[in-house]
Amino acid sequence: MSESGHSQPGMYGQGRRRRRRRDRDVGPPGQNLSGPSRDREYVPRERRDGSEEPPGPLLQKTPIILAKPPGERSKPSQSVPISGGQALEKPIMLIKSREDGGKPGTPPEVASPCSGASKLEREGQRPTQPVYQIQNRGMGAAASSGAVDPVIGQTKLVPPEKMKHSIKLVDDQMNWCDSAMEYLRDQTDMLVVGVIGLQGTGKSTIMSLLSANAPEEDQRVYVFRAQTQEIKERGGNQSTGIDFYITQERVIFLDTQVRLNLSPLLFLNQSLQITAFLFTVCHVVIVIQDWFTDINLYRFLQTAEMLKPSTPSASHDSTGSSGNEEGSEYYPHIVFLQNKSSRDEFCPRNLKKMHMAVDKLMAHSHLKYKGTLSMLDCNIFPGLDRDYLETEVNMFLLPLMENEGEDALTKAGSGSAPLFSLLPGYRGHPTFSSQVSKLRSQILAMSRCQLSHTILTEKNWFHYAARIWDGVKKSSALSEYSRLQA
Ligand code: ATP
Repeated sequence: MSESGHSQPGMYGQGRRRRRRRDRDVGPPGQNLSGPSRDREYVPRERRDGSEEPPGPLLQKTPIILAKPPGERSKPSQSVPISGGQALEKPIMLIKSREDGGKPGTPPEVASPCSGASKLEREGQRPTQPVYQIQNRGMGAAASSGAVDPVIGQTKLVPPEKMKHSIKLVDDQMNWCDSAMEYLRDQTDMLVVGVIGLQGTGKSTIMSLLSANAPEEDQRVYVFRAQTQEIKERGGNQSTGIDFYITQERVIFLDTQVRLNLSPLLFLNQSLQITAFLFTVCHVVIVIQDWFTDINLYRFLQTAEMLKPSTPSASHDSTGSSGNEEGSEYYPHIVFLQNKSSRDEFCPRNLKKMHMAVDKLMAHSHLKYKGTLSMLDCNIFPGLDRDYLETEVNMFLLPLMENEGEDALTKAGSGSAPLFSLLPGYRGHPTFSSQVSKLRSQILAMSRCQLSHTILTEKNWFHYAARIWDGVKKSSALSEYSRLQA
């Protein structure tokens, strides 16, 4: 810019100017340093020529700090290092300032994260690798619970959200609800457990105990709300539709409302829909009864199995599939749960008869009702060997959930001999809570086989279940069955 804009200097002749400047250069070096800068524009041109004599290079070297007296060198570090000697001193200064934590004027506590950051900004021109590393480490240690670490931690380790109560998967109007989706994840290792049973048999109670609650807890805090006394008295039904709850161990529990014998056809139809749905989307379906047994229940199970939607094939256009069609159809494990069982039902002979009866009633079913759960494995009957129940089905007995201490005392007190009055009464079975925990471990250990031809994540399962529910509702087989029953 100087060349284009200042054509006039050329008019005066360059030789004259040079001479004048040379005269000025004769003065002391300090003057040269503080000399006006407007003359500098001419200097490079002269140097480029290479025809200039020593004064030019001298002018350049004068700013070098090496020439400064030692007193000036210890002054502020703003001076830009030029020579190698000064560059060596720089790292020493850096380390000092880091260790002191911003000593010039700032208090030491504030110096850790904040002053460190501001210092980095100030010293931005000369950061070296170690400075960044040490400062980062220092920040992590000093502010371990500060604003940085939790953010990183949150993104890496978000625990699965814990459900407080069950929510609706299918509402009272038999419509699908989407709210469960937010609790589901993209992982495949989940277990789906459904329950069916007659009214008031203890479905919600058992599902709460299997999923999140302990028998000692107040029933009002159970995740699946149990029937209240008022509902019980008027013969009402607490559960409607399908309730959903997922544990942090990724077990999905589905509590349902099933009305079998007493109900109008509409209810029977709805119950069949729900049961057929459970047979398609659950790994385990618990069938609860509180007495042994109602033949209608087995008819109902048979009908639901018949109306169950067929498992969608892997690819629709697959022509020559190797397996037979029956083998590719999905059927869940069925567990018969005798709730509120009496002492007599725990009697081995009665137990055997019960197993035989269920085995005969279920003989033609494809549902996996035997071979996956055993009371004999739980050390409930220590004297019985495995062969005792040759027709063993997946059956489990839960006693009455009574006030155990009270019950034991009354029974023991009724004995005639004074010695026996000190002993607890004979119950004939383990305690309710011990039975529940045995049942839970048996259920949770059941095989998590594939529900469909593709491996489902929790979220995939949700979409799959929604599709199956839609299919069940529109099922022509179900509507035809209802029409024939009418
Ligand atoms: P609904 O058909 O209305 O949904 P449900 O089958 O879910 O009812 P719950 O509401 O769980 O049944 O239980 C009905 C009643 O039976 C409750 O008062 C509950 O406390 C009681 N109950 C459940 N299991 C037992 C048991 N083993 N011993 C004693 N009482 C029990």
